Amino acid sequence: MIHKTIIIGGGIAGLSCALKLQEANENFLLITDNLGGRIKYSAKDKINFGAYFIMKSYKNAGKLVSKGKLINPLDVCFHNSSIEKFSLLNVHTLKRLPELIRFYVAMRQFSLHYEQFKQRCLIMSQKEAMQLDPYIKTLYSKPANDFIKEKRFKKVADDYISKFSYACTGVGPEQINALDFLNVSMGILQPIYNLTFDEKIISDRFRDQLITDTINTIEKEDGQFILSGASGTTYKAINIVIATPASVTKNLLKKEHIRGACKIYVYHVEAELKKAYRRFTLNLFPSSSEIMLTAKQANGSYLIYSREKETDLSKVCVKFNLITMVPWEKAMYVFGDIFLEQEPDEGIYIAGDHNGLGLEPASISGIFAANSIINLSRLNPLSSGTEPGSRALPRVSYH
Ligand SMILES: Cc1cc2nc3c(=O)[nH]c(=O)nc-3n(C[C@H](O)[C@H](O)[C@H](O)COP(=O)(O)OP(=O)(O)OC[C@H]3O[C@@H](n4cnc5c(N)ncnc54)[C@H](O)[C@@H]3O)c2cc1C
Repeated sequence: MIHKTIIIGGGIAGLSCALKLQEANENFLLITDNLGGRIKYSAKDKINFGAYFIMKSYKNAGKLVSKGKLINPLDVCFHNSSIEKFSLLNVHTLKRLPELIRFYVAMRQFSLHYEQFKQRCLIMSQKEAMQLDPYIKTLYSKPANDFIKEKRFKKVADDYISKFSYACTGVGPEQINALDFLNVSMGILQPIYNLTFDEKIISDRFRDQLITDTINTIEKEDGQFILSGASGTTYKAINIVIATPASVTKNLLKKEHIRGACKIYVYHVEAELKKAYRRFTLNLFPSSSEIMLTAKQANGSYLIYSREKETDLSKVCVKFNLITMVPWEKAMYVFGDIFLEQEPDEGIYIAGDHNGLGLEPASISGIFAANSIINLSRLNPLSSGTEPGSRALPRVSYH
């Protein structure tokens, strides 16, 4: 059987694509080796071992994940050292008021551009949307530190924003671009919620289209894509949406360059934290510390995020019992300004967080792939069947 579209990857990008195609009554198959990808939610313990929160503005990703508990900004503590620390409501914050105002003005300007950019990305590629907005395009190749310096909020960045951004990305402002930095920093100015992901509801929703398999190779022959799964099954499609992490997409398509990924190790512990860290639900640290954050969970246990695999947890705990450690060797694609084309070849769409961090950009890229396929079938209704493409194309191996 030849499918109109096969989506490879069931993270938020692939699922968002699937949802859009399903709503448009399109023929598709979703092949994935797990559901959720970097969303790894334990419904039993109500704990996220991967993506942790969603912002109020996550309109698209919000269709597939639900809002859990509101993260109270007054329950967050920013640490410079085990001695120097401050919460948001503090005399220290008042001292930073002029810089805070400058940060707020910069964010307001960013937010206006970014909201329009995201809207455009639903119907055009990120590259085209950037061409329409040079402000956003410049941020993609500008180091976050340069932006901070230009807008003159370095002290506020050091005290608050960069710690929040480090907790979200695993890298400091010296390593991240301004677009990613500002995108995640939006979480300082708007309500954020713990996320929940109901795997059962999602798998029921795509019951008829969902296949569990790992795609090893992609070839193109006579206008059809031929995909080989680890199970030994071969799948055929007119269009493919590759919604795998960038490192997998790179291998599947033999792409030369992608952005580099950071590592994050999530330690789940029963612990007694040191006194300095006990009072607050979230403790955030500067990028000079390998420990990025500690987060108290509803059942009293803690998640401790670190960028190092062998982390000495006694730096923040008086005593602890390690329950599990979830390693994310390729957590987020944050290094460099290489841009992955979303439509690299006829019938191939790439979705995911390769060019923009987080659940919402990944979700939007999946919707864009779906919209492109839906539009194509409206323009050319004959292409929407399950027949092979009319043009005989030479055999191309993507592996
Ligand atoms: C520890 C951590 C915390 C994070 N916290 C947040 C947060 O709080 N908020 C936020 O917005 N973002 C957060 N992120 C980032 C966010 O998780 C990602 O940006 C987003 O999940 C990427 O979605 P995706 O669909 O592009 O990729 P993925 O979620 O990685 O999905 C890819 C899918 O492809 C499948 N796959 C891979 N290879 C194959 C193959 N060969 N064949 C078939 N299927 C395959 C995988 O199983 C997976 O289902 C966090 C990430 C990590 C690691």
